[in-house]
Amino acid sequence: MRRLRPCLVCGRLTRNASRCDTDQAAWQQRQDQLRGSAHQRGYGQPWRKVAAAAVAAHRQTHGQWCPGWGVPAHPASDLTADHITPKAAGGTDDPRNIQVLCRGCNSRKRNRPST
Ligand SMILES: [Zn+2]
Ligand SMILES: [Zn+2]
Repeated sequence: MRRLRPCLVCGRLTRNASRCDTDQAAWQQRQDQLRGSAHQRGYGQPWRKVAAAAVAAHRQTHGQWCPGWGVPAHPASDLTADHITPKAAGGTDDPRNIQVLCRGCNSRKRNRPST
């Protein structure tokens, strides 16, 4: 039989290794939230799918062609999708909020966001 130990959080005696049942459950929930945060920010697996679909659709319509950001439209083979309104600013994965640019234009846009 295991000895009682004080819970790390509330100090109540418990048979658990480090936390009482209540605090263990709360801790576990927090761990799950931390692990899920990439998804919650929208840059997990779902976004990668949306981005890949946006690039594929762009290629079908426009071919290997970048609409340009601060430069005229130009041919480009390294197209990437990006949010027009960033997720952090309340943007969504809606196709209307997704812009396809080449990597060069995308990083130019990141350094000089349109406001
Ligand atoms: Zn506790
Ligand atoms: Zn470009």
